[in-house]
Amino acid sequence: MAIRHWVSDDAGYENWLAAHPSGFHANVWSRRRPGYFRIHRATCGLPDRSAMGSVNPRTGNRYAKVTADSVAELEAWALANVPQLAALGPVNYCLPCAPTTNRSILAEIAPNPTR
Ligand SMILES: [Zn+2]
Repeated sequence: MAIRHWVSDDAGYENWLAAHPSGFHANVWSRRRPGYFRIHRATCGLPDRSAMGSVNPRTGNRYAKVTADSVAELEAWALANVPQLAALGPVNYCLPCAPTTNRSILAEIAPNPTR
């Protein structure tokens, strides 16, 4: 069990992402949209749009992050810890990085040596 909830700890969160490139992370927007929860692959850069220039822009302020080795762990965490979330639906999964598919972004980006 390796699920972690990062609050005001960008350094710890970023270290985890670097050490777990095949893991997953989720954005939790704690105040204005308490039911907000979106799952991404560790390699997806989309969750980095929060208040840049502030202290802990990725895990402080309105946002926190949850990281885990599997999507299933994040889903279980969300249902247990986000009371406004009765069930997970398509809105809870990042469309570009498609964390629940077998598609690998890295495989698509990496040059194909046979071409
Ligand atoms: Zn994503």
